[in-house]
Amino acid sequence: MKRIMQRSYLIFFITLAFFAGVAFLAVKLVLGSADWVSKPYNGHMASSSGLSQAGSILDRNDNAFVESDKDGKRKYNGDYDTRCSYLHIVGDNSLNISTAVQSMYRTELTGYSLLFGLGMPKSLKTNSDIKLTVDIDATKAAYQALDGKKGACVVYNYKTGEILCSTSSLSYDPADPPEITKENEEEYSGVYLDNVVSSAYTPGSIFKTVTAACAIENIPDIYERTFDCSGAYEIEGDDITCEDAHGTVTFEEAYAYSCNVAFAKIAQELGTEKLTKTAEEMGFNKQFVMSNINVQKSSFDVKEANDNQLAWSGIGQHTDLANPLHMAMMCGAIANDGTPVVPYHVSNNTSIFAKLGLTKGGQTGEKMLSPDTAEKVKDLMRKAANYYYNVRGLNIAGLDFCAKTGTAEVDKEKQPNAWFIGFTESDEHPYAFAVVVEEGGYGISAATPVAVAAINELVN
Ligand SMILES: [Zn+2]
Repeated sequence: MKRIMQRSYLIFFITLAFFAGVAFLAVKLVLGSADWVSKPYNGHMASSSGLSQAGSILDRNDNAFVESDKDGKRKYNGDYDTRCSYLHIVGDNSLNISTAVQSMYRTELTGYSLLFGLGMPKSLKTNSDIKLTVDIDATKAAYQALDGKKGACVVYNYKTGEILCSTSSLSYDPADPPEITKENEEEYSGVYLDNVVSSAYTPGSIFKTVTAACAIENIPDIYERTFDCSGAYEIEGDDITCEDAHGTVTFEEAYAYSCNVAFAKIAQELGTEKLTKTAEEMGFNKQFVMSNINVQKSSFDVKEANDNQLAWSGIGQHTDLANPLHMAMMCGAIANDGTPVVPYHVSNNTSIFAKLGLTKGGQTGEKMLSPDTAEKVKDLMRKAANYYYNVRGLNIAGLDFCAKTGTAEVDKEKQPNAWFIGFTESDEHPYAFAVVVEEGGYGISAATPVAVAAINELVN
């Protein structure tokens, strides 16, 4: 009797283990299959013919970035520069760009379903096209203006959150991805990264926008102050320098003419705590998500900084790093009473996403500045445009704009990185932008033409 009982228990446990295993597999299949099937190593999906039968990816005006022809073969846009300009947002057939739409949304594009796998009958298939908010012509214009230099340009509508232009360089033809080997890897270094969302650069003078916001909030008489700049200011045995001596400048002039000496003094007075608080409120050290993509964090860290390093960090050097999309968003917040609309590029109008409620575009983000500070920073940026950039003939599609350039020293051996951030003041064309050009030299000559090219294309 005892033996029979023991055997019954044994059979009971074996049966239990079997059903538990089946249940586990079933759950894994339901949750994971869409993901497995769309992995690049699945020959059915990413064969030499690409994401076979996948839906089209369209720009905001229904121009095709890529579509599938009758035989299911992927067909990219006919123009070479256009294809290179959108590589990082659309992706290639080999799914090399992990943040691109063809990688991120491959399941949706291929119309995969658990019941039919990839072979869902045409009659049952929902529309698997994906529409982006991006304008194909503006993206090409910005890419061409980058002129083969490494960098990024992003322009978005700060009222709606729609990204209108996003391009990253270096690039390659998504219709014909290069084979990257030991011999040519240097040439293609970093090419799989979308610099708009996945890179961060030394900000240089554009960071004075953050230091200025902190000064407005914490130094009550900042507008009455003047600063003496003789071209160099020594802190702890090391000079903070300006290209030329600015003489005696007000706070507003110091921002417009980008006086390092004045801003080093301001940063010193503000101290690590206040600067860190403002930087973090304005989005540094914070994780942003754009159309389900985790954006590279901008960083500001002066915990261990001495007085000299603190001063450098207040003018965007030391260990400061800024992500281009975040910089555009910060400008969007300044333009928008201190609170940004979160940027997105997968359109809410895409039928499958609308049905599933998957997209999260155009929501209000977290407040970055108080409305009062935003108004004052906007005024500083407007004056920078009027005092400095307009005088040099900078014209952005004839629109009023507020902006700041930056020239960030990275390495004594290399040319500095050039930045241009800001926004247009127009109800019809409310665009916030950020451009960075690696080893571009001066912001005003290297980075401004890229934003101008993109916005001209959007306006005209
Ligand atoms: Zn100066």
